[in-house]
Amino acid sequence: MTRTALVTGGAGFIGSALCFELIEAGWTVTVFDALTYAAAPGTAAALKAAGVRLIEGDVRDRSAVRAAFDAVRPDAVFHLAAETHVDRSIDAADDFVTTNVNGTLAVLEALRARRDADQDAPAAPLVHISTDEVFGALGPEDPPFNEATAYDPSSPYSASKAASDHLARAWARTYGLDVRVSNCSNNYGPRQFPEKLIPLMILNALEGRALPVYGDGSNRRDWLHVDDHARALRRIAEAGAPGRTYCIGGGAERSNLEVVRAICAVLDARRPQTAPHDRLIAFVDDRPGHDWRYAVDAARAQAELGWAPRRDFEAGLAETVDWYLEAGAWLAPLAGRYGRERLGL
Ligand code: NAD
Repeated sequence: MTRTALVTGGAGFIGSALCFELIEAGWTVTVFDALTYAAAPGTAAALKAAGVRLIEGDVRDRSAVRAAFDAVRPDAVFHLAAETHVDRSIDAADDFVTTNVNGTLAVLEALRARRDADQDAPAAPLVHISTDEVFGALGPEDPPFNEATAYDPSSPYSASKAASDHLARAWARTYGLDVRVSNCSNNYGPRQFPEKLIPLMILNALEGRALPVYGDGSNRRDWLHVDDHARALRRIAEAGAPGRTYCIGGGAERSNLEVVRAICAVLDARRPQTAPHDRLIAFVDDRPGHDWRYAVDAARAQAELGWAPRRDFEAGLAETVDWYLEAGAWLAPLAGRYGRERLGL
């Protein structure tokens, strides 16, 4: 039987990868997305070509969200619509709070209204997509985050995501909704807006521009290919349990400097005429409140969802570099939205 998914934020980086994953697995997919600066026109076009229906709307608009739920009558909802760039949240937090918190409230209320309106239908699970950043920073010897780790967010972005996670769990307990929360580590892969570390470094290196590394570059992140994340999210909807949280990670912890050097090494092989690209590395003032380390223990997801990351980080990174080398048409409409200037100082 065909299942129908409603994906908020589906025109973004992870949401679009999830749409392609769901289509591949036989789902029918509708995206609800405001098409902000972060939604590339080329991504929306690729979604439409794959058969995804796109509803343009703001997740803060309760009646628009409710209308989308009523029109789609989803078998599962994936909530990814969010403001996502930490540096932007440092410059101006308002949209982060309204979109990430009020927008999640709108989704939860629409889910509740749908459930109440259609009590004979099986309750649609809501997969609420969150981040490992809600847990704050780890020290060098700390064990990785897991589902029992206390929340301790550092940035306006992660604080707004933490608030939305609390709402999601509270609506599950108070109103009996089937809400499942995922906390995932840093994603990389194709179609990521160029303000994020990996595409920013690739594009700057290609143009011979400086590669700005925050602080001394020792900050550590766990990296997961976006397709592996998308598969985990599908598995949470298909095989997860109501009310359960899943930590998702790639088991690929690297310092930011290691990631930038790895990008440079791939580019040295692809563009030897401008090698060595690591001569462009420039250490710049650190981000305020910059968490030093994130790492994720994904044992529960592996045991209960039968999920494990498939992509090796270095191979996935090389593929990602190759995707951006061919992405001129996808990148062109984004040039006026962000000039790769430093944000969040
Ligand atoms: P993204 O910035 O690429 O995409 C966000 C999408 O949400 C865009 O299509 C945008 O148009 C849409 N959106 C923004 N505000 C909206 C609004 N008011 N109404 C409707 N749509 C709106 O982000 P992403 O990296 O794909 O992240 C998606 C989700 O995954 C977010 O909730 C984020 O917190 C979470 N997450 C991201 C990562 C990561 O590494 N990127 C890791 C873990 C979790």
